[in-house]
Formats: sequence, C-alpha cells, structure tokens
Amino acid sequence: MTLHIAFDNSYAALPAQFYTRMPPTPVRAPGLVKVNAGLAAELGIDAEALASDAGVAMLAGNAVPEGADPLAQVYAGHQFGGWSPQLGDGRAILLGEVRDRDGKRRDIQLKGSGPTPYSRMGDGRAWLGPVIREYVVSEAMHALGIPTTRALAAVTTGETVLREAPFPGAVLTRVAASHIRVGTFQYFAARQDIAALQALADHAIARHHPRAEGALGLLDAVIDAQARLVARWMGVGFIHGVMNTDNTTISGETIDYGPCAFMDSYHPETVYSSIDQFGRYAFNRQPDILVWNLAQLATALLPLMGEDREAAIEAATASVHRFPEMFRAEWLAVFRAKIGLASAEDGDADLIHRLLDLMAQNQADFTNTFRALGTPAARDQFTDPTAFDGWETKWQARLARDGGDAASLMAQSNPAVIPRNHRVEEAIQAALSEDFAPFGRLMSVLSTPYSFAEGDTDLTKPPTEQGVVRQTFCGT
Ligand code: AMP
Ligand code: MG
Repeated sequence: MTLHIAFDNSYAALPAQFYTRMPPTPVRAPGLVKVNAGLAAELGIDAEALASDAGVAMLAGNAVPEGADPLAQVYAGHQFGGWSPQLGDGRAILLGEVRDRDGKRRDIQLKGSGPTPYSRMGDGRAWLGPVIREYVVSEAMHALGIPTTRALAAVTTGETVLREAPFPGAVLTRVAASHIRVGTFQYFAARQDIAALQALADHAIARHHPRAEGALGLLDAVIDAQARLVARWMGVGFIHGVMNTDNTTISGETIDYGPCAFMDSYHPETVYSSIDQFGRYAFNRQPDILVWNLAQLATALLPLMGEDREAAIEAATASVHRFPEMFRAEWLAVFRAKIGLASAEDGDADLIHRLLDLMAQNQADFTNTFRALGTPAARDQFTDPTAFDGWETKWQARLARDGGDAASLMAQSNPAVIPRNHRVEEAIQAALSEDFAPFGRLMSVLSTPYSFAEGDTDLTKPPTEQGVVRQTFCGT
C-alpha cells in the first residue's frame, strides 16, 4: 500500500502566463470523508493508500505528492452576461495529470485548497455542504451516462469556513478531462495574446478533439460536444444553474456543480439558483445560453482563423448557426428514447412536446412520469389523470408503428432515481452532524440509477410540500 500517482503533466508545460505555479495551502486537521475507489482504480491509484494518513494529507493539500506540479489556472469569462476579464482558480489547485487505464489524460485538482492570486475577495476555501453536493451530483451524472467531471475524494480540513454561518471546511478532489473552459480562450483573446491563444488551441485540439482541423474545426467540435451534453442534461431534468462561459468546458464535460439541481415536478421555466434572479439559466433556456457561450468561443477563436477577418467571421458564424439544428437532433434522439421510440417519424417532436406541456400543466414529476410510461402509474403523476389518457392513446399508436422493444429502451433511458434536492440537502445536514450514512446511501443507490432495489423506493419519491427545496446556493 503505497501512495504513488504516475503524474504526466502537460498543462504545466504551457507558457508561464497560463497559470501561477504554487502549492495548496495546508490545513489544520485533515479528516477523511470518502474516497472513490472505483475512480481511483481507473486512474491507477491505490484507493487504500489514498485513504491512509499520507493520502488524506495529500487530499487536504498538506503534502504535495511526488511528480505533481501544482498550479492555479487563469481564465476569464462572462458571468451572467457580464464580462470578467480575470477569473481563475481562486480556490483550486491543479496537482497535475495522469493517464487513466484507457490512456486518457485526466486532471487531478483540489477544490477548496486555499487562496491564490485569482481569489479576488474570496477565502479560497469550500465548506462541507457544496463539497458533498458536488460529490453526489457529479457521480450521479456519471452513473447516468452524462459526461462530467468526477469526484475522487472528499476530506474535511478541521478549519471553519465563514459563510452565512460558520461551517466545517472541506476539500473536494475533482478529476476532469481538463479544466479548459470557453473562458480560458477568452482570457488570451481579450489580451490579444495570439501566441498563447494558438498554444491553447493546439493543446485543446490534441487533448480533446484530435480530429479537429484548426481553430474552426475546434469550434465545431466543441459545439458538437456541448450540444450533446446539454441535450442530455435536459433528458434528466438537470438545471446547471451557472452556465457562465467560465463554466463551459472545451471537453464537453459538465463542470461546476454550484446551485445546480434536478427538477422534481416538471416546469420548463424552473430555476433554483438563489443568485439567478431573472431566470437567465432556467431549465428551458439552457440551449439558448449555451449557443450564446459558444458564440463567445467563436469570437475568441477568430484571430486564429486566418488573415481574412471577414471570411473568418463568416465561417465562425456559419458554425454557430448550425447549433439549433444540431441541438434539436440531439434533443430528439434523447427524448425519442425516453418514450421508447427506436425509429423516427415527423410528428415525434410534437408528440414529445405535447407530453411535456401536459406534464407542466399537471405538475407531473419529471423523473417518475417518464419512468412510469407504459404502466398504470403514469397517469397518477398528473393532477388531472384524464389529461394523460388522450396522449397515451396517440403514443400507443406510434409505438405500434415503431415496433421496437420500447420497454427495454425506456428502462435504459429513464432513470428510476436521481439526486433529488431534498435528499442531497438531507445528506448535507446529516454530514454537518458527522453522520455520513445518508451521503453513503445516496452514493450507493445513485450508482445504478436505472435499476434500484425495493428497499430504496423512498429515494424515488418527490419531496412533501414541506420538504421542497426552493433555492440552491453557490458553493462560494
Ligand atoms: P464559480 O461561481 O464557482 O464558477 O466561481 C467563479 C469565480 O470565483 C472563479 O474564479 C472562482 O475561482 C472564484 N471563487 C469562487 N469561490 C471562491 C472562494 N471561496 N475563494 C476564492 N475564489 C472563489
Ligand atoms: Mg466556475
């Protein structure tokens, strides 16, 4: 049992203006909360060693492992539409990268690891609540088959973090294909540092989109990956909550689980984030916001698209304009599967929209309605069950024309269990009293979201009226 991590760092080899090289800030008394043994194995790291004193010291930022080259990455971004010329890892340190067992390069980053030059007014720390939330939700997303950053471990710091009240400090170890964001490109583009922009594009292409040719090819690949991603979010009722350009990855992974939430009863305009006053990042606005973010990436990449600026603008615009069509196709593929269709017909989008409209009018639970389709329980999800009957008849006729194995397709496309807000909250509250059992149970049930045991039925239930979580808060 030795803690050995085979670091193979590439970001640290990029020019100096990409980051500030610095170690994490040590904490008073590291304590283990959880190590993700499955992910550790994927990364070739001994999970037992990670859970040992030496491992926990590393996870808390008290010891820098051999081969790490710790640094804080710089980036910029549009936050709620407003331009921030300099953001960056204000509470995170990239330890380095490893090759996973498939040869894929993965970042290992400590989040909550102390102040950096990019902390602005922040303390560089995280508290246990957001760390548990990110751990649960990111791992649930992965189990749902949706691209995401992962959680390798959570530790407490033995220090207090002051937010609305004093809370126990914690550090999450985040694993990502990379932490390169739309905002990373924006940072160099805004400074007209074209050499750095080119180096970043070359790095991102080699790392994430090796078949992409040049900056335009990179743009197309990111548009594609992000369209696929957000269509998949919509398919599980996920609301990211802070789709700022610095939270939009180049890899196409979901990143930054702040005020995110899964919907209980379906409504297209649902917003949970306490800081999203105007519903900018509401559930049904996510595709529009995404295309806005991708247009910012297109703008940032323009200087790399050749001398002829007009031609570059025309080409980049054409790429961005392809998004709505591409997104519709991804969205349709996701929702066709959810209603059990293996084939495509012209009226399918209408059929799906009609169901969603009825669900919204009848406060139907998003997850449970789709999961129950084809059983008598489906109509019980609607305040007026007869509203569902007419739709069901049309759907049955469509299924008959389809002739596929609808039941098995739906069972693989409609999760039984998602990380419902009130359950995540419950796990956080228990953790604050050092009871990590609800967190452990959630993690274990959410690891197989498409099948679950009879004994876990309580986790599939929407909250009671008193139990509804109406607002979620950022981890800051
Ligand atoms: P986020 O809302 O998590 O996407 O963060 C936006 C920006 O604020 C990023 O540059 C973060 O590094 C920074 N930030 C968030 N929380 C903190 C904190 N507690 N201390 C320092 N910087 C922070
Ligand atoms: Mg962020």
